[in-house]
Amino acid sequence: MVARRLFGIALLIMHAPMRAASPAEPCAGPHPSYDEAAANHRYAEALGIMLNALNVTASERAAISIQPGLSAANDDRHADAEAAPMRIQVDPALFEDGYDWACQEVVHELTHYRHFASDRRALHDFFATPAGRSSTQWRGCDDYDATVHAPSALEQTAFLCLEDDALTPHSAAFEIEAVLAQAAASGEPLHPEDYDYLAEHAQAFRRSSATFKNESNEAYYLPSLKTEDAAIARSGEAYLRKTRRPE
Ligand SMILES: [Zn+2]
Repeated sequence: MVARRLFGIALLIMHAPMRAASPAEPCAGPHPSYDEAAANHRYAEALGIMLNALNVTASERAAISIQPGLSAANDDRHADAEAAPMRIQVDPALFEDGYDWACQEVVHELTHYRHFASDRRALHDFFATPAGRSSTQWRGCDDYDATVHAPSALEQTAFLCLEDDALTPHSAAFEIEAVLAQAAASGEPLHPEDYDYLAEHAQAFRRSSATFKNESNEAYYLPSLKTEDAAIARSGEAYLRKTRRPE
């Protein structure tokens, strides 16, 4: 779900404009207390400072952990959100990236995490209804077992199929949403690789219109979630139209 290339850009941070952080742009620097904690390898403290700036709730905070070795096992990604178990892990190397960049990475994964949670609530509500439990619209969800009827089991199967990378329009909308959240949190133009990542997923969404319109998967890709994804994709297109790729 969260294949994302990350690059060390400590130098870029040194050239970032210095201005006071505002609540609307929590990734804007400077953040001397964060810098001091990170430079002295007090990563839990540095993460705490960042999560305070991001207004992360206690239950979200409990799902975030520092995981040495994550980057090495995950294509050099410094942070990763997973649907099952629903959690966010960050590598200690995240804290070498400077506040703005590290904060954008956390915002990206936090956006995924929050979307997982809202998807889960939507599916829970759907399988609480007779229409949900009797739905036959499971095409593309290989784990579906027609002999299983327990709402909690249906909800779990639907959730895993919904969050599978193979469901391209949904995973593309996830990535578009997360990159737009980075831009909003920093108040700065996106880094070029993030701009490209946004463009790549906007294109993937456009190209997956067949899956998107296919109604035989609406036991897990609920119509309301398709509507949500279409709105996210439109926001991504609007951003790309009005913003030039940074050099
Ligand atoms: Zn992602």
